[in-house]
Amino acid sequence: MPKFTVLIIEDEKNIQTFMGKILKRHEYRVLCADTGSQGLDIIRSQCPDLILLDLGLPDINGNEIIREVRTWTSTPIIVISARSAEREKVQALDLGADDYITKPFGTSELLARIRASLRHSNRLNTDSSVYIRSYRCGAMVLDFSRRLLTIDGREVHLTPIEYKIVAYLAQNSGKVVTYSSILSNVWGPYTDGDNKILRVNMANIRRKIEQDPAQPQYIFTEVGVGYRMAEDEEET
Ligand code: CA
Repeated sequence: MPKFTVLIIEDEKNIQTFMGKILKRHEYRVLCADTGSQGLDIIRSQCPDLILLDLGLPDINGNEIIREVRTWTSTPIIVISARSAEREKVQALDLGADDYITKPFGTSELLARIRASLRHSNRLNTDSSVYIRSYRCGAMVLDFSRRLLTIDGREVHLTPIEYKIVAYLAQNSGKVVTYSSILSNVWGPYTDGDNKILRVNMANIRRKIEQDPAQPQYIFTEVGVGYRMAEDEEET
């Protein structure tokens, strides 16, 4: 199986080295750039499979890089941010980043983010029938073809709106999904952008699927940004 190539655009050498070591150890091919312009050159010449992008670069604002890259390719971009400011994350996601990871982060978190973004982009590019295969995580199975959600083999009754929300999150499992993306995907592009209707539905979904809605196992809150569904346990 050919290795996936990951480009790390990060001016802090210790973080660049740390990430590079982890990725090489997990069979990724790694390219590194210390500046934004160097990063853009490598993206154009080497076409990496995934980009890890620090937003605070010495020459170009990371958001400018996302904007530029998105004019010609949908290569997944995961933003690395020291800053935990939610607005900055939402802005990067709105510009076309696929996900973000906040410093300091651990090995398993980094690998999970990369896996989820690569898997999602592969589905979009090559095999839409993958969506027909069920989502599985722990005791939960979501069968897209039958629109059936079960936990421990027992059917969970969802309203049509609740089903749409859960299905959309499951199709993006492991990745953050913003409030606005869920709203427009479920209610259509003309929603007023009010999160309240989504929060109400999510509270109902959690009551139905989570043992303890305050300590969710399946759908996690990304404060101020959106939701993230636990990663699909697919056989690779
Ligand atoms: Ca930096």
